[in-house]
Amino acid sequence: MNAPRTERAKVIVRGAVQGVGFRPFVYRRATELHLRGWVLNSAQGVVIDVEGAGDTLREFLLQLEKEKPPRAVIQSFECSFLEASGYERFEIRESHDDGGKSVLILPDIAACPDCVAEIFDPGNRRHRYPFTNCTNCGPRFSIIESLPYDRANTSMRKFAMCPECDREYHDPLDRRFHAQPNACPHCGPQLELWDANGAVLSHRDEALLKAAQSIREGRILALKGVGGFQLIVDAGSEPAVMRLRARKRREEKPFALMAPSLALLREDCEVSGPEERLLLSPESPIVLLRRNVKGKRLRISLLVAPGNPYLGVMLPYSPLHHLLLAELGFPVVATSGNLSDEPICIDQDEALERLRGIADFFLVHDRPVVRHMDDSIARVVCGCEQVLRRARGYAPLPVHLKTPLPTILAVGAHVKTSVALSAGADIFISQHIGDLETGAAHAAFRQTAADLPRLYDAAPKAVACDMHPDYLTTRFAAGHPAPSHPVQHHFAHVLACMAENELEPPVLGVAWDGAGFGTDGTVWGGEFLLANGGGFDRVGHLRQFRLPGGDAAVKEPRRSALGVLFEIFGDELWDRDEWLGAFSKQEALLFKQMLEKKINAPLTSSAGRLFDAVAALIGLRQRASFEGQAAMELEFAIDPDVAGAYPFAIRDGVPRVIDWQPMILEMMHDVLRCADIRFISTRFHNTLAEMIVAMARETGEHRIVLTGGCFQNRYLTERAVERLIESGFRPHWHQRIPPNDGGIALGQIIAAASAIRGKIP
Ligand SMILES: [Zn+2]
Ligand SMILES: [Zn+2]
Repeated sequence: MNAPRTERAKVIVRGAVQGVGFRPFVYRRATELHLRGWVLNSAQGVVIDVEGAGDTLREFLLQLEKEKPPRAVIQSFECSFLEASGYERFEIRESHDDGGKSVLILPDIAACPDCVAEIFDPGNRRHRYPFTNCTNCGPRFSIIESLPYDRANTSMRKFAMCPECDREYHDPLDRRFHAQPNACPHCGPQLELWDANGAVLSHRDEALLKAAQSIREGRILALKGVGGFQLIVDAGSEPAVMRLRARKRREEKPFALMAPSLALLREDCEVSGPEERLLLSPESPIVLLRRNVKGKRLRISLLVAPGNPYLGVMLPYSPLHHLLLAELGFPVVATSGNLSDEPICIDQDEALERLRGIADFFLVHDRPVVRHMDDSIARVVCGCEQVLRRARGYAPLPVHLKTPLPTILAVGAHVKTSVALSAGADIFISQHIGDLETGAAHAAFRQTAADLPRLYDAAPKAVACDMHPDYLTTRFAAGHPAPSHPVQHHFAHVLACMAENELEPPVLGVAWDGAGFGTDGTVWGGEFLLANGGGFDRVGHLRQFRLPGGDAAVKEPRRSALGVLFEIFGDELWDRDEWLGAFSKQEALLFKQMLEKKINAPLTSSAGRLFDAVAALIGLRQRASFEGQAAMELEFAIDPDVAGAYPFAIRDGVPRVIDWQPMILEMMHDVLRCADIRFISTRFHNTLAEMIVAMARETGEHRIVLTGGCFQNRYLTERAVERLIESGFRPHWHQRIPPNDGGIALGQIIAAASAIRGKIP
């Protein structure tokens, strides 16, 4: 029998954790559990580096928050699982100054238990006050206009504190000592309820009660929250959810939910230990939870997440949400206040304009939101947390490096954009901006790209961007006064995953996503890149095929299927009517010309498009209403009891090519014999994991990073990790930084920094 595998976790805890007995507490727990490593105070917060058997380690991490010393308050808890380091004992290390001098701006923090208790206590002067906060909780990044973090530099500036609040603010023994957003019903922000034309209907608590009533009546409420507007409807009302979909022009993409309590949530969803931690954490993200099929079926309409075995759920995080959800007592849809593909609205007059025709009522307040902040999305993968959308609760916390970098601004790619800025040894990553498809999104991008350097008072010496010549972000970089550094898309993915896992080259990067501009001008997306010091070698990729219509294929998986079949059968394809059923005669003719004449049919090695092709071939989905929908449905069709994989081949060469033809041929045979879709989908996923293992063997590199949007697929990630470990490799994956393009900016900075270093001796 093998001994349990040693795992290592690095945790940065921020908040009131220094000088309250937190380090001795960590030391006692770690030694009781026979864990090894160290704990220390740093400018970053309390840093814990600990290793031991996986299960014990996870138990320890859960205990840290649940059983912390009474005076310790955690405002942020960031954990990453890293490569084991071979510590022999656990120790409290001397506090040190590691040069991480950059100013730390905290993210917005969910209401603490003390503040929540106060707003529900009829005897408290903050009873039912929706803007209650204290030193331990409340808005931060969303209200800061400039540094230092003083009230005068926040959007709370316009509210003069009343004598009682002022006393709290100046009393070192008070929980509100120097709490910059401190406020109460006498002196702080107030609620108003508006009708769809902006006419004021009611004020203060009456506004909240009437807003709740409108939700009960099936209306759509636009609520001005912490980082912008949310659209809220009764999640149990089919007509209300349907109306929201129609008005928001969002056909099938799942909506996020907010549930009144964890207890109520458990009736509908399965909640594991780490998932519970995430739900109740100061970050308070939307957590993807598996629907509990045996549950009582709380009143959640199937239209909230059609055909989806997961629900994205959060718990109330601001006092306003606590009051509203307590009043309602049932779960609501709580989705970003925008039209599909646009950034979230933050200003109430702008909201009135942009959400016209969507919201029936507006619940607003007079505390300005300085920068937009969507709700973050996270899930548990391989027993660890993974952030899929990094915004409220996480941004702008940095990734801390061992050595300082030159000041570089990175502008990301095109979808799920975020920007990043290096300052000293920290790389600050902005909140999620979104897809740069609309004028409003472009404006939000430009604003954020200007905001970070201004806030941290750092003038970029270089601007890192994608290699794609047509991205708005690339053009922005070219127009910036500082020199621009284009970075290959998938290499940026690999570097981001390496940075958050603290890995040095050489590392084999498996970067699988929808599309990225390759160094040879073709569309990449199924890449094996060997990171080697300064740059990378493309050591392998999935076999290419032509994509009829190029980008149009994103919304039509059937086009990917046609491209794959044409690659296999060539001209013979047009005689095989049984595989052309998804196309009309005219369509088939049009695509035939595109493919044969190679017009508007770019070559791609994209893994994302291979997912699409398979989904279409097996009849699961021919058209998608959002990118990745077909891949999601393939993941939902997984049956963990199905074993085995399809055959494939690796063709030698530079780079090596993974040939999926044997897999597709056998899959077609399975389709003709009417094999279960679950059988085919599971074997497809298993084959992809075997391809990764086979390429790892070919290159012989021990350490593997899994990155790119395809690794948002939980089964694919977990299966690849499991198979790589069984085969003697060390896999790493994303935890704090999204595997999708939200992580690109981080990798771009690392690449640009090493390019600059290479040029300046
Ligand atoms: Zn508080
Ligand atoms: Zn006051």
